[in-house]
Amino acid sequence: MKKTMLTGVRPSGNLTLGNYLGAIKNFVDRQEIYDSYIFIADLHAITSYIEPTKLKSAVYNCVAMYLACGVDPAKTVIFKQSDVLEHGTLGFIMTFQTKMGELSRMTQFKYKSQLAGKEGVDTGLFVYPTLMVADILLYNTAIVPVGKDQQQHVELTRDLAERFNKRYGEVFEMPDVYVAPVGNKICNLQNPAEKMNKSDNSDNKGTIFLMDDLAVARKKIMSAKTDDLAYVHFDEENQPGISNLMSILSKITGEDFESIEKRYAGKGYGEFKREVADVVCNLLAEIQAKYAHFNDQKVLDEILAVGAKSAKIVAKETLARTTKALGLN
Ligand code: ATP
Ligand code: MG
Repeated sequence: MKKTMLTGVRPSGNLTLGNYLGAIKNFVDRQEIYDSYIFIADLHAITSYIEPTKLKSAVYNCVAMYLACGVDPAKTVIFKQSDVLEHGTLGFIMTFQTKMGELSRMTQFKYKSQLAGKEGVDTGLFVYPTLMVADILLYNTAIVPVGKDQQQHVELTRDLAERFNKRYGEVFEMPDVYVAPVGNKICNLQNPAEKMNKSDNSDNKGTIFLMDDLAVARKKIMSAKTDDLAYVHFDEENQPGISNLMSILSKITGEDFESIEKRYAGKGYGEFKREVADVVCNLLAEIQAKYAHFNDQKVLDEILAVGAKSAKIVAKETLARTTKALGLN
């Protein structure tokens, strides 16, 4: 019997190169080995305000993008989180297994609440990791491919699964996180100290969106912030901009850092950036062509309906085991 793999993306904006390289690509590369589930995390998207019409179109955009990135509905269950309300119920239950301290220590919460100020921060931002715990546990997930920023949430999932199993008996499978060695934190091209985020302003010069016009994407890469050391070398501390571009190149082509450094010995950043821009634009062109092909609402609705049906079977079964263990039925 195959083990289960699961991942998801929030439909909170247009997908970025970071989402593709950090999560979706790793999922697609493994979708045949596992019993695979990928979802559109629309309940996570409402943890902060999003205009309802925007949310709806972002959901379709996300499904079409999954398909364009190579997710195959014949091999993978593709579903929308809100179609399987067991996520909400198990999330609610898992919140009660969680300590305030555990949620306060989540770096995403710390980072985002700093921006909003503690009093003004949405509760959703505080408790959403417990929904993520439910997302993972509902499907008896063995492996969760995500970017580095989400690793801590999968670790929380393991802690809560273990706590629950100890208290109530073996209900949950222990998931492992998969964070790829290269490309697990693609950084903002203008501020390479920060992660590239999709919910940034859409005209952000530091974010490559998968739907970016190729000329725009090229310009963003050519004007990416670097340093004045003037040699192509992987050193995240002293050369974060160049290291970020090297990660992007390496993750797409498979070439290792040493080989890239060798090829660019004695050469300037301009030539290096041109190659990165070429490789990224080729990738975007391929994805965009497939996106145009799949972007048909009727087809997408059909895929989501089939996906929800399959996902519900497993989710219902896990939730029934959970409520039974709790003494609720
Ligand atoms: P948001 O700003 O809405 O939080 P996001 O770009 O962080 O958007 P998420 O939907 O939160 O995207 O995350 C989807 C997946 O993409 C997760 O597995 C996450 O770890 C991964 N991911 C997000 N940004 C990056 C990045 N810059 N580099 C690598 N992986 C990333
Ligand atoms: Mg995020």
